[in-house]
Amino acid sequence: MSDQAEMQTHASILVVDDNHANLRLLADMLLTHHYTVHEATSGPAALEIARTLQPDLILLDIAMPIMDGYQVCRALKADPRTCDIPIIFISALTETEDIVRGFEVGGVDYITRPFRFREVLARVASQITLVRQRREIEALRRQDRQTFESISRMKDEFIRMATHDLRNPLNVILGYTTVLEHIAVAEEHRPLMDEARQAIRSNVEKMRRLVTDMLELAQMETGEHLRPTEVSLSEFLAGAVSPFCRLAEQRDIALTYVPPMQDLVVMMDPDAMTRVMDNLLVNALNYTRPGGQVTVRARGWDSRALIVVADTGIGVPPEDLPHLFDAFYRVNRGHAADVDGSGLGLSIVKTIVERHGGHVRARSRVGVGSVFRISLPRLSG
Ligand code: ADP
Repeated sequence: MSDQAEMQTHASILVVDDNHANLRLLADMLLTHHYTVHEATSGPAALEIARTLQPDLILLDIAMPIMDGYQVCRALKADPRTCDIPIIFISALTETEDIVRGFEVGGVDYITRPFRFREVLARVASQITLVRQRREIEALRRQDRQTFESISRMKDEFIRMATHDLRNPLNVILGYTTVLEHIAVAEEHRPLMDEARQAIRSNVEKMRRLVTDMLELAQMETGEHLRPTEVSLSEFLAGAVSPFCRLAEQRDIALTYVPPMQDLVVMMDPDAMTRVMDNLLVNALNYTRPGGQVTVRARGWDSRALIVVADTGIGVPPEDLPHLFDAFYRVNRGHAADVDGSGLGLSIVKTIVERHGGHVRARSRVGVGSVFRISLPRLSG
């Protein structure tokens, strides 16, 4: 059997016509071409068959007593069991108005009496092909969804695994490093011992930061952990900036906070947004040389609140700027390469801000400085 014949054998068509002679004519032609054919001679019978047998296509006469073709079509479209079945209307050649109305109520095509069989077959075949393609696309979508769900489950599994199996051993190693610091060693071994302890501690710290950042990013992506409350932005920012004053002083960087002119109330999870400010301020201080400046500002803008973290630091090369918020992206050149980091900080910033219905942008010029601008929906002010 040819592909075409195979496709037709498995395709089922409901033909609805109150005129028995017309019905036979169409049904016999379709049967000859290997379609499975169901027949109905009234609207109510057509609805019953369509609901139970779910044909691939319906050929529907317009002029019928009791329930005309438009009423049948509307009833089919209103029923979730039959709404996706394409309907080809059957009409007399002269009735152009009928054809237009047929499209309006949801028909996909029409055939006219007297039938030109090759044309009817071509229209039927093209609708059946469309039905097949739509089903294939739906199957692929279902498959994609299943694949996505299974990847998402794997990710959750990995997070659980990482929490226990990576974090705990790191804590154990750190604990024993502290023990080693308190053990007396022969004088000649001390330099090597100190070097080893320092290397272990700094590498474990690096791994712990990476694991923590990865977990945080994965958790934030699901958004489950956000607990938004109404927060006064000026108070929040004052609290977020103050822990960095000492570090700024130590590094000889002028850290300034300019509060908004009027207070703005924002719906936010203060803990998550503190992580955002921590990441931006750590970066600003890390990538700014002594003598530089870091400024935090906030203001209202339409129905939004803007938070700006600006520095006079080393800046970001233009080719790196578009990737800055990508996970694990780091600028590994020049002074930036001297700073330790996971490359996840800005990715966490972006995820948290977007979970709040906001967005974050970066502008930067090498040797001049960088500006990170967060916009959040606000409630008042
Ligand atoms: P990291 O942990 O490496 O700092 P981030 O995601 O926070 O990761 O930042 C990604 C990269 O963006 C950094 O490696 C750094 O090169 C660059 N960067 C971020 N903030 C600044 C800034 N304020 N000034 C200059 N470069 C920055």
